[in-house]
Amino acid sequence: MTVRKTFGGLIAFTALTATVAFVILLKAPKGVIAIIPGHWGSDPGAVCPDGLEERAVNLKVAEILAERLRGKGYQVYLLPEFSPKAQTIKPTLFLSIHADSCIEGKSGFKLVSRGERAEKLADCLRKSYYKETGLPFDPSTITSDMEEYHLFREIDSRVPAAIVEIGFLGEDRWLLEGHPEIVAKGLEEGLLCFLGGEK
Ligand SMILES: [Zn+2]
Repeated sequence: MTVRKTFGGLIAFTALTATVAFVILLKAPKGVIAIIPGHWGSDPGAVCPDGLEERAVNLKVAEILAERLRGKGYQVYLLPEFSPKAQTIKPTLFLSIHADSCIEGKSGFKLVSRGERAEKLADCLRKSYYKETGLPFDPSTITSDMEEYHLFREIDSRVPAAIVEIGFLGEDRWLLEGHPEIVAKGLEEGLLCFLGGEK
């Protein structure tokens, strides 16, 4: 009787443990993504003649992107531009969102990536962002500010990280300010392509 009781207890305990493990597995995030809305908590970034600030445009896109990714089961951090937290949170990847100047006659996006599978990350972002927004990829205006982005020096160099200039505040304003949800979708698809390991 004692043996049977113990055995029954063991089965119940095992079943409970398995259930708890299963629930934890279900609740575990698919990955941790750190998003930096460019200039947030620091400075306005580029400013248009009518007062439109790059910082506000970046933040809006980042907030929509964060919500979308959370909805897909990812844990998301929104970090200020120079947050010391970037060095401690150990995410699956970093994405910094910036927009380019209000200059007339310039349109397009560009990006720089670092870390493990950096080319894959760049490729996924390039293809998906173009597909969703229709903006051309224009590497000709990539600056040393992007190549030597401060975050790349501050984080573990193995962690995939990218800085994206989502478009120009002048010519691409209709999209950046008018349709941040399309911008966010383009970035989201790029990240999911990378995280899902497709293509
Ligand atoms: Zn910027």
